[in-house]
Amino acid sequence: IEPDLETEARVRADDRAHVFHSWSAQALIDPLPVAAGEGSTFWDYQGNAYLDFSSQLVNLNLGHQHPDLVRAIQDQAGRLATIQPSMANDVRGELARRIAEVAPGDLNKVFFTNGGADANENAVRMARAVTGKRKVLSMYRSYHGNTTTAISLTGDPRRWANEPGDGSVAHFFGPYPYRSPFHSTTPEEEAQRALEHLEQVIVLEGASTIAAIILESIVGTNGVLVPPPGYLQGVRELCDRFGIVFIADEVMVGFGRVGEWFAVDRFGVTPDLITFAKGVNSGYVPLGGVVISDRIASHFDTVAFPGGLTYSGHPLACAAGVATFEVFERDGILERVRDLGTRVVEPRLREIAANHASVGDVRGAGLFWAIELVKSTETREPLVPFNAAGADAAPVAAVAAACKKAGVWPFTHFNRLHVAPPLVIAEDELRHGLDVIDRALEVADEYAV
Ligand code: PLP
Repeated sequence: IEPDLETEARVRADDRAHVFHSWSAQALIDPLPVAAGEGSTFWDYQGNAYLDFSSQLVNLNLGHQHPDLVRAIQDQAGRLATIQPSMANDVRGELARRIAEVAPGDLNKVFFTNGGADANENAVRMARAVTGKRKVLSMYRSYHGNTTTAISLTGDPRRWANEPGDGSVAHFFGPYPYRSPFHSTTPEEEAQRALEHLEQVIVLEGASTIAAIILESIVGTNGVLVPPPGYLQGVRELCDRFGIVFIADEVMVGFGRVGEWFAVDRFGVTPDLITFAKGVNSGYVPLGGVVISDRIASHFDTVAFPGGLTYSGHPLACAAGVATFEVFERDGILERVRDLGTRVVEPRLREIAANHASVGDVRGAGLFWAIELVKSTETREPLVPFNAAGADAAPVAAVAAACKKAGVWPFTHFNRLHVAPPLVIAEDELRHGLDVIDRALEVADEYAV
């Protein structure tokens, strides 16, 4: 697109003067003014194109300006732009039915929310109401959202400044084969030891006090940690044994990110509640929700559910969700993600790992991968420390800058670079983006031994 520096200056000035941004020291940031987006690419006002390798915040599963989603929203706006949640609405009902049809087991009802945090908030509310218990267990190295209970569940530094939040949360270690907290040497051992640890946490915290265990089916922002075989089955078994509700947070990994409707499908596990957001409609209109098992839903057949939202099941958001299902089915999105993941991304990342002294581990599934950067592949010392900021974070910031300079917008977190492009990315774009990352990692190699 043509450069438009005048508009850029106005956008930047309004933003700097009046927009208060998430998670940031306001004076230390310089948000990129974005002029346009299409498919897997967006443009700044100087005319620079960026291949979006982070799908914005891993929500833009169908890419920018997908014509089917845009049309669905436009049509719905022309028909009925909004209607309050206690009334029945065609697209709201259709989307709930379609989600229930692809959800595992007897998860047949959907409570719609505005996003992921309030989905988790309401899932916990349901678990507490049904069990009559209060405590919730969640993992270190997790993110569940920024509202009071969701940020308390979160197992990363974003929780710290929000403490004490919900006091009825305890954290446990999940499996992380590359940096095993259990000193295990194989994935099988990691799964088994992680389950033994979780069982001990349940016993020591008191099973009679624990309403729910919540975890990301595949940990997202905190590392693309794919649970080793047997782990999620084991969590299901512990929840059954101790009368605990199993909540799978699929906000980031649901709706095709790993080549399945829900990531739990990879493991053949049925949680009691699944939370979702992001990919359900690529975030074109804010939407999230909780998919609810018959057992939990039936508790509220004659007892009122103590929660609600003005925009629960907003028609514009739901219309984009229904269109998402149509596109996924018509264009074979799940098959495409599985194919690109195994045929293109995985082998290329293994090559990249072999090329660079700074790459300790690559892991992932579908179109969701992490490249873990280290100072030494021997010691596995992270290239930048946990929670690195400012000068400490410079090596990873330099890799990100090299990617951006070459026209690829990466997702970085601590000592990792994540590969999470839109699921509609063309194969040549995907290969090009991986080539750019390969070259950019030379910058990281300078910090490695
Ligand atoms: N859960 C997970 C796994 C997430 O990745 C996120 C957001 O990144 C959330 C919950 C919170 O979602 P939202 O930002 O829509 O509230």
